[in-house]
Amino acid sequence: MQNQEVYDELVAKFEKVYGEKPTIVSYAPGRIEVLGNHTDYNEGYVFSAAIDKGTFFAVAPTADDSCALTAGDFMETATFTTKTVAPAKEMTWQNYVTGTFNWLFEGKPETAPHGWKGMFLGNIPLGAGLSSSAALEMCTGLALAKLYGKDVDKTTMAKIGQKAEHTFAGCPCGLLDQASSMYGAEGSLVKSDFRTNSFETVSMGPTVAFMMVKSNAKHALVDGAYASRRQACEDAAKYFASVLRKPVTHLRDVTMAEWVLYRGGLSETTAKRAVHPIGEDERVVQGAELLAKGDLKAFGALMYDSHESSRNWFENSCEELDAIVDAAKALPEVYGARLSGGGFGGSCCLLVDPAAADKIAAHITKEYKAKFGDEPVCSVIKPSQGAHLV
Ligand code: ADP
Ligand code: MG
Repeated sequence: MQNQEVYDELVAKFEKVYGEKPTIVSYAPGRIEVLGNHTDYNEGYVFSAAIDKGTFFAVAPTADDSCALTAGDFMETATFTTKTVAPAKEMTWQNYVTGTFNWLFEGKPETAPHGWKGMFLGNIPLGAGLSSSAALEMCTGLALAKLYGKDVDKTTMAKIGQKAEHTFAGCPCGLLDQASSMYGAEGSLVKSDFRTNSFETVSMGPTVAFMMVKSNAKHALVDGAYASRRQACEDAAKYFASVLRKPVTHLRDVTMAEWVLYRGGLSETTAKRAVHPIGEDERVVQGAELLAKGDLKAFGALMYDSHESSRNWFENSCEELDAIVDAAKALPEVYGARLSGGGFGGSCCLLVDPAAADKIAAHITKEYKAKFGDEPVCSVIKPSQGAHLV
């Protein structure tokens, strides 16, 4: 469904369920990770983009403290009051919304001057790694901030959503998803610095797009593998703090040159893990310089480097993701490709010439199918405008 159709359907359903028109409608997009893999917990850099799919939130005030919330696709309604906001065990989709409401009022939603009736509807596939959860939090936050006349800056709004996700949805996520949804802009990437939690929009122009290729791979032991990678990064940071004559708290503080000189004191595995976030940080910084020069091909080459680093050093790739990247390399219309997100399955992110999207999707699908028997899902993503009131 196109965004306009989602909006129209939401407004029509709102009127049908609540018997009145919404007074405010907001929109927030999902996101993709473009460069900078496993850098967030190492206090490093990430390039991401807001996508051209998102979630709309429609709301109207109530005269008393009553609240009602309807999931527009399921057409289920949860009811509560401003005094009974709490994490729910049923209809758990409401937690992303009620959590955001809760933290918009700093944990005291009972101080809200009145209640509200709301409904949301979106076109981001749920649980597909495009962050439908952050989109839902951010459109909720914008609509409710407007409803109550609160002036909330983008970073604060992202943190409110993250807190909702931690405490109401029970998911210990970083700030990337919410910040990408808030700071996204058309034809642009969002550069995040997870040391300072600052975010900047970097233009890449309208001539390229991304293609997300979703493998059907889901490998066992993912949680354990993720935890062991994180531990290796922490161990390496402690080691570098002990040998470098400068303050080191995270791998963000270590350069590639220092890794080359001092890696001998680390176990082979820990050294291999550490070089991935160190290299990714340098690639994001270099990538920003290349975008400033408009050199999209060189930016794409950094994406291929990122995947090699995952494949050989961090070892968070898998056969299926490698096959997608290898198939991409055969096509001049693909400028770069890499696994995106945690790894061990999930999706690859390709920088592509959108005019060749059909050819690229057909080639990758053919190669993948020949190896694994099933077909990956390819979708073109245009970096798009971030969260806003409609
Ligand atoms: P992701 O954020 O990668 O899509 P999550 O598991 O973090 O995956 O969040 C998905 C959950 O968010 C869904 O299971 C649902 O509870 C909630 N959600 C987000 N958007 C919607 C929506 N438009 N309709 C219903 N539920 C939604
Ligand atoms: Mg999520």
